[in-house]
Amino acid sequence: KPAPNDLRAFWMPFTANRQFKASPRMLVEAKDMHYTSADGRPILDGTAGLWCCNAGHCRPKITEAVRAQVGEMDYAPAFQMGHPLAFELANRLVDVAPDGIDHVFYTNSGSEAVDTALKIALAYHRARGDAARTRLIGRERGYHGVGFGGISVGGIVNNRRFFGSLLNGVDHLPHTHLAENAFTRGQPEHGAHLADDLERIVALHGAETIAAVIVEPMAGSTGVLMPPKGYLQRLREITRKHGILLIFDEVITGFGRLGSPFAAQHFDVLPDMITCAKGLTNGVIPMGAVLTTPAIHDAFMQGPEHVIELFHGYTYSGNPVSCAAAIATLDTYEDEGLLTRAARLEHHWQEALHGLRDHPNVIDIRNMGLIGAVELSPIDGEPAKRGFEVFKRAYEEGILIRVTGDTIAMSPPLIISEDQIDELIGTLGRVLKAVA
Ligand code: PMP
Repeated sequence: KPAPNDLRAFWMPFTANRQFKASPRMLVEAKDMHYTSADGRPILDGTAGLWCCNAGHCRPKITEAVRAQVGEMDYAPAFQMGHPLAFELANRLVDVAPDGIDHVFYTNSGSEAVDTALKIALAYHRARGDAARTRLIGRERGYHGVGFGGISVGGIVNNRRFFGSLLNGVDHLPHTHLAENAFTRGQPEHGAHLADDLERIVALHGAETIAAVIVEPMAGSTGVLMPPKGYLQRLREITRKHGILLIFDEVITGFGRLGSPFAAQHFDVLPDMITCAKGLTNGVIPMGAVLTTPAIHDAFMQGPEHVIELFHGYTYSGNPVSCAAAIATLDTYEDEGLLTRAARLEHHWQEALHGLRDHPNVIDIRNMGLIGAVELSPIDGEPAKRGFEVFKRAYEEGILIRVTGDTIAMSPPLIISEDQIDELIGTLGRVLKAVA
């Protein structure tokens, strides 16, 4: 039998832990803003787990709700029977969703929420007699999970190049990361015109073939890229003009990251669907959802003769334990004002983060709400080396950050205090100096 820390027994494709070989980093406990490492050290969580523990760790209300529900009713067969918590949660979600969104489909993850939204888009057009609308449009550097739908519309070539053609008929808009956006505080001023590329794609294939556009309103895991001012508005105008659905993938931006429940409210743009997961249950238990509009719901429900034969749902969608966790999570967000807290902390966060700009290896800093990125120059032209060194050293110094390549991303739990922001960024500053 392999030893418990033998990495051969566990495929850890996403984690820098692979590079630690025989001594992987192990976390054994978590409470509020901190993890405890296996060697007993407190680790300040600068990433809310993986952008998901928005209310911090092991919050009593959520923990208790899960415990109680597991004891009361563990499972209800989703396709045959309902249970009250699924309805209660749907109503709670609609309450915090943008006006104009009033229906919920449950999934178990962000990847599944993306697949579900893409299927709903195609089914919606079909229900309206537009069966030819099957093309999908994503964006370069978009991340939409690891399902076949998500990697097809996703804009990371490396994630899809092993898998052939994937979904047929997918185009990608240009990404919105312009070089002149260096050290931007909030949204870049310029770049809204990049949305106009959608008109080129429409002209190429014909609007009557295009089902939906999917974008992260603010690209998270590919480097925290803010949409330029007016960009999302322009995407909405063009999609509306051509009868194309607009999907916001809010798996990271959902549940308060930018200072409002969803980015759709923050940017004041109403999409046709929102995908969410992560912060929905505070990371405690897997769950995702697609939130959508009456127009989409009504297309399915316009009468028995029109209802299309769509089979869709997961064994665990809306299961009682996930619903209990999500309701307690929403209660916690509400009780503690967490869905708007990022807006109150944004200025402090921004100033602390941009205080790092004088480090010689820092080439860009971006921030919004309670999310930010620090981009580093590569060591000796070798990509990801400095990023890994910084990640390693940061963990030794007691902070958890996320590194992709040479970009450091941070998205702390929304309960973080101003002092803890200073501690997080101060420690990162010392680490940057040490990894010169
Ligand atoms: N969409 C976005 C925007 C994400 O950030 C992620 C996860 N990082 C996903 C989808 C996939 O979610 P999951 O890992 O829960 O499948």
